[in-house]
Amino acid sequence: MCNRGLYEQIILDHNKNPKNFRVLPDANRQSEGYNPLCGDHYTVYLKLENDQITDISFNGVGCAISKASASVMTQLLKGKTKKEAEDLFAKFHQMVTSDPDKPVNEQELGKLYAFAGVREFPVRIKCATLAWHAMLAALDGKNTPITTE
Ligand code: ZN
Repeated sequence: MCNRGLYEQIILDHNKNPKNFRVLPDANRQSEGYNPLCGDHYTVYLKLENDQITDISFNGVGCAISKASASVMTQLLKGKTKKEAEDLFAKFHQMVTSDPDKPVNEQELGKLYAFAGVREFPVRIKCATLAWHAMLAALDGKNTPITTE
């Protein structure tokens, strides 16, 4: 756990200076996510062309974990295919819902490893995955707002 401080820094940095934090004017997909337990509320915008995410952004308000997670997500998913985005979410979801004592494959998860700490705070898992759920809904062309309840 010697890297824990470093990873907390990633969350703090992304919360302070979130990437792709804007409305995407030429988005052809978008979906809203709301986490009533914490008050996190975001819209995720996608530009999907031939099954590839050519641009992605998000906008809204929420806690540091939800905002940092959305920010890292947009960085990782730009240029990815729908299938690659779904696979990455599956890995991320598996990690944050795994037993806190279970070792995490840091190399495979990269920056997403920063969120391994939420495993110790189950209520925070919803914060960490909110933007991802909204992204998946947008990929599937669903416009109904996603709520974690
Ligand atoms: Zn939150």
